[in-house]
Amino acid sequence: MALVVQKYGGSSVGDAEKIKHVARRIIDTQNAGNQVCVVVSAMGDTTDELLDLANQVSTNPEGRELDMLLTAGERISMALLSMAINDLGAKSLSFTGSQAGIITDEVHGNARIAEVTPDRVAEALDGGNIAIVAGFQGFNRDSKDITTLGRGGSDTTAVALAAALNADVCEIYSDVDGVYTADPRVVPTAQKLDVIDVESMLELAAAGAKILHIRAVEFARRHKVDLRVRSTFSNDPGTIVLSDEDGVNQMEESVVSGVATDKSQAKITVIGIPDIPGKAAAVFTTVAEAGANIDMIVQNTPTGSDVTDAVSDITFTLPKGDLKKVLDALAQNRGVLSYRELESDEQIGKLSVVGAGMRTHSGVSAILFRALAEAGINVEMISTSEIRISVITSLDQVDDAARAVHKAFDLDGDNEAIVYAGTGR
Ligand code: ADP
Ligand code: ASP
Ligand code: MG
Repeated sequence: MALVVQKYGGSSVGDAEKIKHVARRIIDTQNAGNQVCVVVSAMGDTTDELLDLANQVSTNPEGRELDMLLTAGERISMALLSMAINDLGAKSLSFTGSQAGIITDEVHGNARIAEVTPDRVAEALDGGNIAIVAGFQGFNRDSKDITTLGRGGSDTTAVALAAALNADVCEIYSDVDGVYTADPRVVPTAQKLDVIDVESMLELAAAGAKILHIRAVEFARRHKVDLRVRSTFSNDPGTIVLSDEDGVNQMEESVVSGVATDKSQAKITVIGIPDIPGKAAAVFTTVAEAGANIDMIVQNTPTGSDVTDAVSDITFTLPKGDLKKVLDALAQNRGVLSYRELESDEQIGKLSVVGAGMRTHSGVSAILFRALAEAGINVEMISTSEIRISVITSLDQVDDAARAVHKAFDLDGDNEAIVYAGTGR
């Protein structure tokens, strides 16, 4: 008998009918001779709606209370799904993250899984039950508080449980047929990939392709979990994320596996900062102490009449949600940093091109920048890794940029990709 972990995302359990559909799918999997452990997200856009509510009652909601609030979303869907399964005559038990043994550090809103002790889940499975676990949440032993794993974190719950239970496969069910060459909501001609190597998947997730939570992909790589992404609403076999090296070596490396867009970033420019050793360190120490994770950094060539009064500008990108606190921290340290002025911009978008074959192929940047130029898109910043090139454009041009670049790399398919549900929020 195989042990299957299945994760159903918010759009898969968006209303009562969808929950009943998912219940039937799960029972079919059990009837095919498997033990089934299910991880479930909050219904539809519940998490966003709860966040909106929190922001209506408070300008700065406490992390602990936010986690108490947001975890309620997954609790609703786990109980409803369990009831629907019971109603169809199968045995099922639902568990919160802490009941399922998801132990985390104490960082509210972005906790990391430290340990998984799924004894109750294993017991439930051995007793012939389908075990339903609330995704996205855990428990910290020191603070004895409930935590959440960051937006999209139910994927990580599923992979962590699959590793701890030694499951045969971990299936991530969503509202599209698998991992595509681009977000089908942005690039309708995107094509589904049958397989993707874990390195490219990591880069795509990091670049904003929210089909998989980046930490779920990291976890799958480290623990060699077989991951499959597929749709709740079709029987398409989906996309296999290959984590074992033999498999990856047998794959023909595509130069470009896909493109991704990210609209969640803002940028800050520190203008007129003295061009002397230690100033960049001081800027980024201030940013780090404010608790922000930065992404791209660019420093321009210093200007000034001689070496002693040379100044330069440093530009970096960070999550929009961290913008205010970082601007405040930089303003507070203006005396030490001695810059002339600060500028910020929330109207930016990031476009990334990812492919393991970039290691060995030249000319990728030429195709990328030619496509952007032909589409009349101005590039504000550039960064690269071994298998990724990212550019910052204006927010209103990033989707056009994605479509132009997708086409330029010959990724366009003949048919339009199907998006079965969800609002894309
Ligand atoms: P779920 O609620 O199932 O976790 P998400 O909304 O988190 O679903 O992720 C699924 C969405 O990810 C898709 O509807 C699609 O718009 C988006 N997406 C972004 N990049 C990709 C990609 N490369 N392939 C497939 N979907 C993508
Ligand atoms: N419900 C959470 C979110 O919307 C977790 C998840 O869906 O994975 O981010
Ligand atoms: Mg998701």
